[in-house]
Amino acid sequence: MGDIVISLKDAVVSYREDVALRGVSLEVERGEFIGIIGPNGAGKTTLLTVVNDLGKLVHGQARVLGVPVCRRNGIKLRKRIGYVAQAENIDPRLPISVRETVMVGYYGRLGLFHRPTEDQWKNVDRVLDLVGLSHLSRRPIGHLSGGEYQRAAIARALVQQPEIFLLDEPTASVDPQAQREILSLIQLIHSQYHMTTLFVTHDLETLPSICQRLVLMREGQIWKEGSPGEMLGEEVLRQLYEAGVSVPAEGGSGKFPRCGW
Ligand code: ATP
Repeated sequence: MGDIVISLKDAVVSYREDVALRGVSLEVERGEFIGIIGPNGAGKTTLLTVVNDLGKLVHGQARVLGVPVCRRNGIKLRKRIGYVAQAENIDPRLPISVRETVMVGYYGRLGLFHRPTEDQWKNVDRVLDLVGLSHLSRRPIGHLSGGEYQRAAIARALVQQPEIFLLDEPTASVDPQAQREILSLIQLIHSQYHMTTLFVTHDLETLPSICQRLVLMREGQIWKEGSPGEMLGEEVLRQLYEAGVSVPAEGGSGKFPRCGW
């Protein structure tokens, strides 16, 4: 085993009467790219909230980046963890540009009252270039399409220079072309920076082919985990989703066309 950066042991999270995680144990090595899949309500998002200390454990333990996850370490940990969720609707009247939104990624590390330096603005521009948004950098953040907004969210997380990247359905509610572009970008970023990445989706069509391991969640538990080749069989998926799923024949273009394993 290499350097373990996320270690969950028997993690239980409950929201009042609902138990969202029921004894989840998971170890993730530095640099791994892991897909977390499963039906709606399986506990995928909740698992991410345990990693960045926004979900409170009622039982079990979590260690992330070498420290126990607890209130004392939560803020410090979140500075080292980038998080991108689903595209949001932003008020178009919000007077903040794309460039300024991305700069916000620095504030976690440097403090809210920090005045950005010339070098930091240059770095923001470099990251905007990487995500393909240079031409929109002066536009108000509320004037972007869903796909463009997600690129800005990824850029904001990247300037934070995170060691762990949590991606929670980052391609949900954007059109198929934008989905493909965002997935390519995420794969490019991983191949350049090798950040430990947890990618959550309930939609297997948006699963990046770069995933090295898949964690299959059902009813608040890890039901199975293994290589994509082992986990993406028709029978395993039928049981996971408790429904008929169509796996394309090799080279086909059915339900999981981008899972090129
Ligand atoms: P989806 O794919 O729909 O996003 P998920 O697998 O990410 O689902 P979670 O969002 O982790 O699932 O939710 C797991 C369970 O916890 C669900 O039953 C959900 O209703 C419940 N839950 C999640 N957040 C809260 C909350 N803030 N308050 C109460 N219950 C919650």
